[in-house]
Amino acid sequence: MANILWGNVLAEKIKDKLKEEVTLLVEQAKRLPKLVVILVGKDPASEVYVANKQKACLKVGILTEIIRYDEKIVEHDLISKIEELNYDDSVDGILVQMPVPKHIDSDKVINTILVEKDVDGLNPMNVGLLQIRKPCLIPCTPLGILELIKSVEPNIAGKNAVIVGRSNLVGLPTAQLLLQENATVTICHSYTNDLKSLTRQADILIAAVGQPGLITKDHVKPHAIIIDVGTKKQADGKLHGDVLFDEVEPIVDHITPMPKGVGPMTIAMLMKNTLKAYYQRESKDGI
Ligand code: NAP
Repeated sequence: MANILWGNVLAEKIKDKLKEEVTLLVEQAKRLPKLVVILVGKDPASEVYVANKQKACLKVGILTEIIRYDEKIVEHDLISKIEELNYDDSVDGILVQMPVPKHIDSDKVINTILVEKDVDGLNPMNVGLLQIRKPCLIPCTPLGILELIKSVEPNIAGKNAVIVGRSNLVGLPTAQLLLQENATVTICHSYTNDLKSLTRQADILIAAVGQPGLITKDHVKPHAIIIDVGTKKQADGKLHGDVLFDEVEPIVDHITPMPKGVGPMTIAMLMKNTLKAYYQRESKDGI
């Protein structure tokens, strides 16, 4: 029987700690951290993600503003709003909920967000800083994955970590974080030959694909740590992970559930990033 890595429980503990920090700011009559979330259109999944972020901010005490735009908004107007927020001293974090409608260039949107306020860590400047191991804002899901792993294995050095997926959002930054922890990292993708032979060597296996059932009991090493990032709605109307939980769980030592695994940790890390951006802006040290 594996230990279940309940991300929702760990996320609550992290948010409780962050709330204590914000309470201290209130007691000291300091300016409070503020996150602005921009939502374009009415995608139901995005609405849920934004509501969850707002709820987390409320819990921690971070001020939030949700700016909603019709899906027909022209790119120029969205960019102008981000520029205005870049100059607004009361704003510490800016997040544009993805995906944006096709007529808007998402790269241009991300590039416009000031690097110091880029709490999603997706601006190329933050991506580059992470690559060269300099202080920066790091994407939230990889940060959450690292916290989950460290909650059961503080010493990652020398471990074989295999990541399935190489996206800018999850796979690549997760690989970078684990490298910085001195793991030996293998990144797999859709062109990888004989996936099983690689994943079976993993002391830590991270599946970030979005293909339910991709990782079976034949893909895992006994006693491994398994982090299931994948989320995909199936015909049953439920969200499924990449890992066949029921058959993998008996073999491994630690495994995240889906849901209540990585998802809540992503939001907790957004709160952490917003406070980090706040502190860095307050100290005027930059990142
Ligand atoms: P993505 O951009 O679509 O990337 C998927 C990756 O999987 C790609 O690198 C792709 O390889 C690789 N891949 C596809 N089929 C494969 C196969 N058969 N074997 C090995 N690799 C394969 O997705 P993403 O944004 O990284 O997200 C991945 C999953 O995590 C999605 O289900 C997403 O919903 C979920 N997610 C969850 C959270 C959370 O907070 N819970 C956050 C972010 C994402 P190529 O590069 O060769 O195409």
